[in-house]
Amino acid sequence: MIVVMSPAHTREMRDAVTRKIEDAGLRCQVNEGVERTVIGVVGDSHTKEVLRDSLEAMAGVESVVRILQPYKLVAREFHGGKDTTVWVGDVPIGGGSVVVIAGPCSVETREQVLQTAEAVKLAGAKLLRGGAFKPRTSPYSFQGLEEEALKILAEAREATGLGVVTEAMDVRQMDMVTKYADMVQIGARNMQNYPLLREAGRTRHPVMLKRGPSATIEELLLAAEYIIAEGNPDVVLCERGIRTFENYTRYTLDLNAVPVLKSLTHLPVLVDPCHGTGKWKLVTPMARAAVAAGADGLLVEVHPEPDKALSDGPQQLTPQNFAVMMQELDAIALAVGRRV
Ligand code: PEP
Ligand code: MN
Repeated sequence: MIVVMSPAHTREMRDAVTRKIEDAGLRCQVNEGVERTVIGVVGDSHTKEVLRDSLEAMAGVESVVRILQPYKLVAREFHGGKDTTVWVGDVPIGGGSVVVIAGPCSVETREQVLQTAEAVKLAGAKLLRGGAFKPRTSPYSFQGLEEEALKILAEAREATGLGVVTEAMDVRQMDMVTKYADMVQIGARNMQNYPLLREAGRTRHPVMLKRGPSATIEELLLAAEYIIAEGNPDVVLCERGIRTFENYTRYTLDLNAVPVLKSLTHLPVLVDPCHGTGKWKLVTPMARAAVAAGADGLLVEVHPEPDKALSDGPQQLTPQNFAVMMQELDAIALAVGRRV
């Protein structure tokens, strides 16, 4: 349920509404938009129903709207139908531009990261990615350089000014990751790790939540709801491919999810064409398609020498190919009324 306050409401009126909600044992999430303030009411459905009429009668309340979907705070209605912009430092995600986050799958060496960071920045990337804690299918594969990798990423931020996005795989890693990173990634395999989602919700860092390979769109939205319900509104969703019977590609990049998510939620939506295809030659075509479909940005793996990469070599672009992709995206973005 959401309470939409009238444009002319006062602070006292709003406080009276939140007090009434909290006195009934429910929780409030206040969303101050440019045109409207909306209060999300979270908790037991029966209590909400009982409270509904009296809230509607309160001074300063324009309307009380039931949200029928199981997710509430991520629902588009909760944001007055408008898109949310999530800021990572001074970089806005959502709200018209196409943001490209680029960097290696894994942090391997200082030189590899610094060289990649300079190259992707030059080509127009706005944020740097790189894995420090790697979720690998085999326990014998490279698992990431952990804190050493985070220090290298922080050094690359110093050198280039690019904010850093990196994954936390476990609640016990969250403090260390947030000490160095500007945005926390929750990876596909952890999309339904509810303690981790709650922990991400308790940080003040923006979160990039990747869709699980077998998760429905509704499950992705409910996972985002966990983070926001914990008090962190800065969530960005990322479609990265789902598992289907097709095995020519690593996953099947579900570009349907882009317009579907844009209609259901106010949160920004990114696309990862690298994990979605597993093949570098497919990355640029699918990046173009993602922008054409309305994605707010892309997550792209770039490595100076993909054939020597310790993880995901076959799907990483060289810095040269990345620069070509960025140029091609300009035209597509322009055609759909956006800018890269
Ligand atoms: C990654 O972005 O490096 C990654 C491991 O992705 P995913 O969680 O989508 O597999
Ligand atoms: Mn990877």
